[in-house]
Amino acid sequence: MAEEKTVQMSDTISVGEFSELIEKSAAEVVKSLMMNGVMATVSDAIDYETAAIIGEELGVTVEQIEKVSEVVERKNRKMSTTAIERPPVIAVMGHVDHGKTTLLDAIRKANTTDDEAGGITQHISAYQVTHNDRVVTFLDTPGHEAFASLREHGAALTDVALIVVAADDGIKPQTLEAIKYAQNAGVKIVIAINKVDKPTADLNRVKQELSDHELQPEEWGGKTVTVEVSAKDGTNIEGLLDMLLLVTDIEELKAETDVEAEGIIIESHISKGKGPLATALVEHGELKVGDILVAGDTYGKVRSLQSTIGGDIVAAGPSTPVVISGFKGVPTFGTVFHRVGTDKEAKKRAQENSSNTSAVLAKSIDKSSSDSMLAQMSNEVQEVNVVVKADVRGSLTSLTQSLEALGNADVKVTVVASGVGQLSESDIMIAKTSNAMIVGFNVSVSSALRRMALNEKVDLKMYTVIYELLDDMKEKLTERLAPEIIEEDIGRLKIKGIFRTTRNLIICGGEVTKGKAKPNIFARISRDEKALGEVQVAGVKKEQIDVKEAKKGDMCGLELKTEQKINLKIDDTVDFFTRETRARTLD
Ligand code: GDP
Repeated sequence: MAEEKTVQMSDTISVGEFSELIEKSAAEVVKSLMMNGVMATVSDAIDYETAAIIGEELGVTVEQIEKVSEVVERKNRKMSTTAIERPPVIAVMGHVDHGKTTLLDAIRKANTTDDEAGGITQHISAYQVTHNDRVVTFLDTPGHEAFASLREHGAALTDVALIVVAADDGIKPQTLEAIKYAQNAGVKIVIAINKVDKPTADLNRVKQELSDHELQPEEWGGKTVTVEVSAKDGTNIEGLLDMLLLVTDIEELKAETDVEAEGIIIESHISKGKGPLATALVEHGELKVGDILVAGDTYGKVRSLQSTIGGDIVAAGPSTPVVISGFKGVPTFGTVFHRVGTDKEAKKRAQENSSNTSAVLAKSIDKSSSDSMLAQMSNEVQEVNVVVKADVRGSLTSLTQSLEALGNADVKVTVVASGVGQLSESDIMIAKTSNAMIVGFNVSVSSALRRMALNEKVDLKMYTVIYELLDDMKEKLTERLAPEIIEEDIGRLKIKGIFRTTRNLIICGGEVTKGKAKPNIFARISRDEKALGEVQVAGVKKEQIDVKEAKKGDMCGLELKTEQKINLKIDDTVDFFTRETRARTLD
């Protein structure tokens, strides 16, 4: 066998260039793309993931050059002599309900001044605390997809993944997912064993489970740092912070100061009155009011900077989370921002970035929903399960509320998972395991993810107009509504004679005692008011001649079709009825 060819590409490549690179005809590449559900022409761009899949099918190994080196570069960035020590950045993750939010609150309460902590109830995505005169930055990871996205963007700025595990529940799928993300991103893991106050807490079990996943606790002779806490009671929060600092001390974390400010966007939304607001984590340099920034396809001049717990600041240094106003658009979550010299340059770079991404995203097609719809139809429970992704928390909340309000007593939308930010692999896996479809609002999807959804048979729909989304969901719910069945009684007959019975046919006769007997309708047979079964009336005869009806008092013959064996006897009752189905509407 010939040795497999290996080619290298950066993030994206046009179909034409790709075919040249792998020395295959463009038609072959286009065909292979089509087979994978991606409609593209020669001039369209495809991303690395797509190219790798197509390459594999055509017998070529595709390697990515830039992206890998970007991550490595960010991680292994050689620090100059002027680099300074920076606070560690801790991403908090864990299975739902294991106490991530409570722990983040507990850390914040224990370490911010009363003034600051007072009245803080709303969720914030990042904050800093001071412990033993040292600053520590905490990042919340809304449903770990956020972390995957951070990882994807080469956010080597996360130093430790603090994984919360409830002592009474142990390691769960999302815990494993978090561990996997952390390992892939090459960041250190610290396990907070939470809820130790509970009588059902079982520390040994958690440690055993950790060991089973190659995370043997230090006290068991392994390398994994575990800290037992109760977020609810605030127990051992100080110990946890001590440990986090100890773990990161070894790393000698540094950041450049003599460079243009750069960092990563961790949350963004449009605020009434303030326009686009972005929460960013500064990586290097110092971000100041008045700086001109580019973040992906948007740019702007920093109008104001605020600390994530409120209050204006004039500048933010490395590892500092900061809320930026002044961007012209909403920068995408996970995007790296850079300070540039002039407005003109910023605009140019944003435009370049914009044409790169939209060209790639436009390449994928929506998968037809019919297959999965059919599969869902056979579900007894009339629920449409959805995973909802939105660009910002505000629209996510209103979307999930509107979706859940759509149903009625018979059908409903169940939001099985939701999150802010770009779609990720884990969203697709969650949708798959919960037989859900994914609806995205103002979020982008890479063609690789679309392909994954296609492979996993997960229905994926993206919207930019909320009404369209709600209308579509309404339609889906309506399709699920079992049709209304309307039955009307027509008449009754008493059996006087049975002439022939086969497995599926009964020829009999009797007297119509009420209403009418008609062909091509249904009938129920009963004896002493006990139902024996349902039949179809294939024919009604009077004196051997087929008739359209027989009236009360008439003697007539019946041809009954049956799917079940009915042992018909003289004097049994036949009740004739019609049955119609009528499609129902939601309201
Ligand atoms: P998250 O989904 O991981 O953010 O979990 P939450 O912080 O919302 O906590 C889920 C539930 O566990 C809430 O009812 C908390 O009050 C409870 N909880 C969190 N930490 C503790 C703890 O240390 N002890 C006990 N007993 N309950 C806790």
